[in-house]
Amino acid sequence: MRRVDLRSDTVTLPTPAMRKAMAEAEVGDDVYGEDPTVNRLEAITAEKVGKEAALFVSSGTQSNLVAILTHCQRGDEYIVGQIAHTYMYEGGGAAALGSVQPQPLDFESDGTLDLKKVEAVIKPDDFHFARTRLFCLENTQAGKVLPLDYQARANALAKRRGLTIHLDGARIFNAAVKQKINVREIAKYYDSVTVCLSKGLAAPVGSMLCGTAAFIKESRRWRKVLGGGMRQAGVLAAAGIVALTEMVERLEEDHENARRLGEGLTEIPGFRLEPSGVQTNMVFFEMDERLRGVFIPFMAERGVIIGTGHYPIRLVTHYGIEAADIEYVLCAARDCSERFLVK
Ligand SMILES: *Cc1c(COP(=O)(O)O)cnc(C)c1O
Repeated sequence: MRRVDLRSDTVTLPTPAMRKAMAEAEVGDDVYGEDPTVNRLEAITAEKVGKEAALFVSSGTQSNLVAILTHCQRGDEYIVGQIAHTYMYEGGGAAALGSVQPQPLDFESDGTLDLKKVEAVIKPDDFHFARTRLFCLENTQAGKVLPLDYQARANALAKRRGLTIHLDGARIFNAAVKQKINVREIAKYYDSVTVCLSKGLAAPVGSMLCGTAAFIKESRRWRKVLGGGMRQAGVLAAAGIVALTEMVERLEEDHENARRLGEGLTEIPGFRLEPSGVQTNMVFFEMDERLRGVFIPFMAERGVIIGTGHYPIRLVTHYGIEAADIEYVLCAARDCSERFLVK
């Protein structure tokens, strides 16, 4: 039976080129700064993202946490989306490990944070309040691409109010590919940027934190404090280099597959796409009451794996999923609709 795993782009497996690069990687002790492959990955990333320096970290969660610990001190605060990864999905790390308090705000339907609301929660310089230090955005946010002019205004607000600004750009390359721009055009609005290699770019492990040389020097310290100093990490970095140099343009295929999947679902009775539509590699949709309890198990019997953690349901396309898989998924969804919707 065909297996189509639409839970996340984190399920991607390393490409044959990655396996080869990993096997042949030149390595050394990265904590001593002596792993040539890690050093090369960091240099390539910094160049691509348009920052002075980059740091190879074990995960996106670690990258965001290191960024917050580097930007903020104990008793500081960061402004963040209510359902942002950096707030909702990182185990409260900033508070638990950094004594940094989040100030969450609801995302708007386009994945932005309303800048008037952001400005309104920046605390005055008064010892009753935490010190507002950092403003965090996410791009893509639930598959949505932040407009460039919005990011310019977010940057201007942060600078005017003396905040630093961080981007959780786990999927920044999806955004850049969608907007047909160089990723630097996005990254330039941020003091620091997290980039995930292990999502749609298909590397097995790793994320990159990017920023100024001084920021990355301090981040390197925090990475070590968090237990994230790795030794012959070049075996992993080698896959990361392939991810950055060979896997970016093909994200377009994931976007096209997601677009086709969304379009196909709207043609089947009982499925309703979210109004924001499909922008990158994620499809969010709602279902008729009668399909709610049965859809995911029905699809699982056909080998289509769908995550249960989201409603509206989230489907994610990625490396390893082909156009024919999308047609297969749509066919199974049509069968489900026909079986359970009594006409
Ligand atoms: C996946 C993801 C991360 C990082 O996740 P890890 O599993 O820790 O690598 C960060 N932000 C967003 C928006 C993500 O989707």
